[in-house]
Amino acid sequence: MINNVVAKARVAQKEWAKVPVRTRAAIFLRFSKLVLARQDQILDVIQEETHKNRLSAFEEMLDTVQLTHYYGRHAAGILREHRRRGAFPIFTKTREVYRPVGVVGVITPWNYPFTLPATDIAPALIAGNSVVLLPDEMTPKIADLMLELMQEAGLPEGLVSIVHGGGRVHGSDLIQAVNFVMFTGSTATGRLVATQCAERLIPFSAELGGKNPMLVLSDADPVKAAHGAVRACYSNSGQLCIAIERIYVVESKYDEFLKHFVANTKAMKLGSGNDWEITMGPLISEKQFVRVRDQVNEAIAKGAKVEVGGKVRPDIAPTYFEPTILTNVSDDMELGRGETFGPVVSIYKVANDAEAVARGNDTDYGLNSSVWGGAAAKRAAEQMESGSVNINEGFSAGFASHDAPMGGMKTSGLGRRHGREGLLKYTNSQTISVQRMVGIAPIGKQSNRAFATLLTRLLGIWNKIS
Ligand code: NAD
Repeated sequence: MINNVVAKARVAQKEWAKVPVRTRAAIFLRFSKLVLARQDQILDVIQEETHKNRLSAFEEMLDTVQLTHYYGRHAAGILREHRRRGAFPIFTKTREVYRPVGVVGVITPWNYPFTLPATDIAPALIAGNSVVLLPDEMTPKIADLMLELMQEAGLPEGLVSIVHGGGRVHGSDLIQAVNFVMFTGSTATGRLVATQCAERLIPFSAELGGKNPMLVLSDADPVKAAHGAVRACYSNSGQLCIAIERIYVVESKYDEFLKHFVANTKAMKLGSGNDWEITMGPLISEKQFVRVRDQVNEAIAKGAKVEVGGKVRPDIAPTYFEPTILTNVSDDMELGRGETFGPVVSIYKVANDAEAVARGNDTDYGLNSSVWGGAAAKRAAEQMESGSVNINEGFSAGFASHDAPMGGMKTSGLGRRHGREGLLKYTNSQTISVQRMVGIAPIGKQSNRAFATLLTRLLGIWNKIS
């Protein structure tokens, strides 16, 4: 089945690649406007499928608007051909062009089921490819709505095909048939995808898991940090790859930070449904709920202390887990080092800034870090081993800077989305050179030795003046 879908996408791609980049990009400027105008419908479907709070759904919609606008405006400039220095000055003219890779397979998770597919697909299409999308099996409707809106904005039929049923069922077949794989999901699945891509020697890009640290440093304002921590940890009910799950606070700021963070967490409006003022909604599924609950219960059984939260709330929704702050967390607990992907954060007291940085980096992951303070935060930012670092902010400042690349170090990913990198990865760069007047070989009856002597002299002069 996937083979037929990819074969059709391949035919569509051949024609699409002939369409000027500006025409392709203009579709996404229209899509961006359309998404903003149709936000109520989009938010309703996101909420119906994920149960996230309305503000988190809004942020997802907004990210799509901004990213597609960015590529709509700037893609043509990024994709234009570049003159390169030729092998021989004057005699060799070289340019670099970007060719589409062909059919791109996109596999996306359920946590941001509108923005992740839309913002991975947009650059792939603008670069001249066609796409086959496997959305997560829990979020099919929002993927269909996304495609409907792209087509309403002018995207020709056949350039994006959606195959429902999920990557567990269709992933391997897709990887066997496409020319490039864009995968977003867990590190464990990312490894499986990477292995299959390696066997075929096809390029891929992977945005994977995280266990992101926040550092509250010696010159930080603990009250401001405690305010920012609420959004950093509980946005989208913590089901966010770049959300904060560990906080390291220097001794001198610890008590005040913890007091305010606990108070802010208690003040959150918990709930389910489309009331705009709800600050945190339920988890998406029974499976996710069980994972979060079991990690917290295991940690408590092994000695973790609950500062706030820690309980299931069936009175709000069957999959509701309270925003939770834990202390006394150690590495022998699953949530000490493993990704929770829920509204649970561990807080650690550290002696100084250097220890905060060292412990923040002590993880196999490297997706995002958040550092709070003045000069100390700027210094720490340079030392963090993560693809993005947000100073005095949780995650959005970096993620929403769409002109800059976004992705993971260590086991958090390979490749980047956003910016130049997020577009050019969907292309093969090709070098086209013209050799004029003289060849790169002896001329006529010239001996090899004479040719070598001449070349040595010419290059000697050239290297002096250039
Ligand atoms: P997951 O890896 O189980 O699933 C992600 C996607 O992969 C789904 O669409 C699923 O159907 C598909 N899939 C599952 N098995 C597959 C296989 N064998 N071959 C191909 N595709 C397969 O992840 P999840 O638990 O559903 O999603 C949450 C994870 O995603 C977290 O680890 C989170 O950090 C990560 N994530 C990362 C980013 C990022 O940008 N770095 C963004 C969102 C989510």
